[in-house]
Amino acid sequence: MDAQTCLQIFREVKESAFATVDENGNPQNRIIDVMSVADGKLLFCTARGKNFYRELTANGNVSVTTMNRQFQMVRLQGTARRMEESRLWIDRIFEENPTMNDVYPGDSRYILEPFCIDSGEIELFDLGTTPIHRQSFVLGNGSVKKKGFFITDSCIECDKCARNCPTGCIEQSSPYVIGQFQCLHCGLCHEICPVRAIIRL
Ligand code: SF4
Ligand code: SF4
Repeated sequence: MDAQTCLQIFREVKESAFATVDENGNPQNRIIDVMSVADGKLLFCTARGKNFYRELTANGNVSVTTMNRQFQMVRLQGTARRMEESRLWIDRIFEENPTMNDVYPGDSRYILEPFCIDSGEIELFDLGTTPIHRQSFVLGNGSVKKKGFFITDSCIECDKCARNCPTGCIEQSSPYVIGQFQCLHCGLCHEICPVRAIIRL
């Protein structure tokens, strides 16, 4: 699995939840079609009259989530930017997604503006495997923020966290180690450690 494969999941599912923040600081969420994932970019479009367009052009911060039939959930956090050569990209989008002609026939398509997300962080959360699999990937010039739970040198190796972890992803070691790819980020180990050796980032 890599960033491009995760982008492909967005394209396969197509309908994805796009979260933005409006001018009052309130969260907004909409189902938007992912039109293409060419060249390491996720492409979508929206009409200039929509609030979604206003929010995107105000700051561009967006979080996109989807899940396929195999229960593989992907989330992309990044910055959406409006594409230059708007008409060219809209034509290309309509070529790849011909049903768009039913919604925007003829030249009405040019009320749409193309956007892409080509930098950010992608997180895969695969609930279709046992145990679960979690992994993060960098998209373009983005970066991956380290997060989750980590065991420090304060660990006294009492084994309590390993015995109670729902995915069994804590390795008996000195100190104990959390297998990050299988961690749910549930926080149970953090709550029950008797010496508070587990930190959260
Ligand atoms: S519960 Fe805390 S002290 Fe015990 S093994 Fe886990 S991290 Fe170490
Ligand atoms: S956060 Fe939950 S899943 Fe992750 S290591 Fe701790 S108990 Fe296990």
